[in-house]
Amino acid sequence: MKKLEWGIVGGGQGSQIGKTHRMSATLDGFFDFTAAAMDISPEKGKAYAQKLGLSQDRSYGSWQEMLEGECKRKDKLDLVTVATPNDSHFEIASAFLKEGFNILCEKPLTLLISEAEELVKIAKQKNAICAVNFGYAGYAMVRQMKEMVRNGDLGAIRLVMAEFAHGFHADAKEADNPRVRWRYQPEKAGISGVFFDAGSHALYLSNYILGDEVAKVSADFCSCVAGRTLEDDAQINFRFKKGTVGRLWSSAIAVGRMHGLTISLYGEKGGVTWEQERPNQLYHTPLGKPTIVLERGADYLYEKAKEASRVTIGHAEGFIGAFANIYSDLARDLLQKKQNPSSSNDAVAEYPTASAGVANMKVIFAATKSAKENSGWVDC
Ligand code: NAD
Repeated sequence: MKKLEWGIVGGGQGSQIGKTHRMSATLDGFFDFTAAAMDISPEKGKAYAQKLGLSQDRSYGSWQEMLEGECKRKDKLDLVTVATPNDSHFEIASAFLKEGFNILCEKPLTLLISEAEELVKIAKQKNAICAVNFGYAGYAMVRQMKEMVRNGDLGAIRLVMAEFAHGFHADAKEADNPRVRWRYQPEKAGISGVFFDAGSHALYLSNYILGDEVAKVSADFCSCVAGRTLEDDAQINFRFKKGTVGRLWSSAIAVGRMHGLTISLYGEKGGVTWEQERPNQLYHTPLGKPTIVLERGADYLYEKAKEASRVTIGHAEGFIGAFANIYSDLARDLLQKKQNPSSSNDAVAEYPTASAGVANMKVIFAATKSAKENSGWVDC
């Protein structure tokens, strides 16, 4: 089988997420890394792409050059990842989609809901895939949780508790660090700070695992580090459409916390907890019984969880593998689209779709409104 061709915009040397994309996209052998415009500096971007082994003619100085160059080729890229800061997602993703490229865009999809909706529309018109990288949905034990909910193992879910609270933007002296600064500037980051940046993942996981959407929110935001316009701590209460209660804490000033992504679901028949820093274990407590530790890689897991895993039980498997599962989900759809170009898989896609990205943004916008209005409830 000829491999699919993959390219990236952003993710240059020293970026937070570029290396993870490169390792994940190529991990399962579906994609070859063949083209890139990796840096805001054309020289640095070209040099780094070539250092990583890309040919000179596909190491571009800007995304505009990359679009122009790739449009002229017969062996066009099958998937383009957009991993630049948030304020350029719309411009870049829409330009590539309009030329028929399939896109995996980093979260948040765009700065404005109208722009995100526009991406969904263009993708539909062009019959292109537009996905958004809520990569934690690729963890095997997250997929196990989803299957447990779907199969009724926990009964009706009453409460979802989600956290994405780390402590890495707590140092006021770091205010000028360019990799931190943009995350709290509305013109670069968008309407919200830590909720958009980190909490959005916990929110997506809540929706994904539960198979439901948020109906309304009440939020309390705080900019704890002096000088920040956007919030660096957020507490959100919400209600899902089917009535489940949701609570979410997102923070960037929780000193001592590392990555801090955890999610618990409490149902009529039991509870389940997953911590992203210990991703191979899932703690399941059936009502009235002791807690059972489910292990990634075990035979007793649901098929979807087993499929999402590569190494045998007891060995570490984590972040790269989770993103790789999103890439592999995309690859399967892309290969199907190659065979049947009119096929559209958005409704059954395993990966996070742009439509899910829009729903996620609507909750964040509603939460921001609530936070400005004394934490009153706001419909999403
Ligand atoms: P970063 O600031 O560390 O790196 C951004 C990179 O993009 C740099 O190499 C920069 O030179 C390059 N760049 C900027 N503008 C560009 C342009 N116009 N053309 C080409 N390259 C350009 O940022 P980051 O932390 O890597 O975040 C990038 C995106 O990924 C953000 O949208 C962020 O929200 C998202 N992100 C997602 C996850 C996740 O788990 N899914 C984790 C971290 C970051």
